[in-house]
Amino acid sequence: MSIANLEVVKSRITKACKRACRSPEEIVLVCVTKGVEPSRINEVLGAGIVHIGENRVQESLSKYNSIADTAIWHLVGHLQTNKAKKAVETFSVIQSVDSLHLVAAIDRESGKLSKVQDILVQVKISGEAQKFGVSPDDADSFIGEMLKYPNIRVLGLMGMAPFSEDPESSRPHFRRLREIFASLKGRTLNNIEMRFLSMGMSQDFEVAIEEGANMVRIGSAIFK
Ligand SMILES: *Cc1c(COP(=O)(O)O)cnc(C)c1O
Repeated sequence: MSIANLEVVKSRITKACKRACRSPEEIVLVCVTKGVEPSRINEVLGAGIVHIGENRVQESLSKYNSIADTAIWHLVGHLQTNKAKKAVETFSVIQSVDSLHLVAAIDRESGKLSKVQDILVQVKISGEAQKFGVSPDDADSFIGEMLKYPNIRVLGLMGMAPFSEDPESSRPHFRRLREIFASLKGRTLNNIEMRFLSMGMSQDFEVAIEEGANMVRIGSAIFK
């Protein structure tokens, strides 16, 4: 069941890439598995999915030992500073980094494990519709601060459009994030590599791809 949905999602990704004159190989599909039981997650891992996204540290820990170890784990939901230790132990990529306070905690915990933690900086492109994320105007100075934290590596940006039934309404928000991403790309240095632009969910991933996303986070369209 999930596999059939997955195939539909993949072909929609391919079609969106064609429209945008892009190659589907550029797009990293992160299957968002919050609320999904391990057997169904292992099913998509068996079908070649590598990246899975979870929303909450606690839920991830409860599933961790039941999930095939080929999985690369992404945290996509808000992270509280007091859970930074568990997050660093569990996730390959923390996509939801939105404060310097949190960066400092992640850096400290990854240092203890001699790990360099890959992160994306979450940018609030949806105005007041969402609580979390660095404001677009602050993104540049926020990225500049990352140089002070040797145990993290910034791999790009993550953002969410405000929820809407109409995918087209996400377009201006995604365009804005792509522009911020493009303006930061020149800042690749030391522990900053602007490689991934993570935007687009079940509702609006095709629009996100048309606007330049190279990482999409898709849950309900696969696990409905
Ligand atoms: C749940 C979630 C997704 C996936 O949403 P779907 O609508 O189920 O595709 C993507 N990103 C984040 C941050 C999420 O919390």
